[in-house]
Amino acid sequence: MRNTLTVNACPYCEGHGYVQLLLGGSETCYGCQGTGSEQEEDNEH
Ligand SMILES: [Zn+2]
Repeated sequence: MRNTLTVNACPYCEGHGYVQLLLGGSETCYGCQGTGSEQEEDNEH
């Protein structure tokens, strides 16, 4: 397991908050709702 000092970056958009569409353009990331970080309900490991 890798440890990061910052919050977990969303694996889908890599922290950008949006994803590039193959057809062109971009869309708000469905994995993080555009926040750029994983949403795990205040879950501390
Ligand atoms: Zn995301």
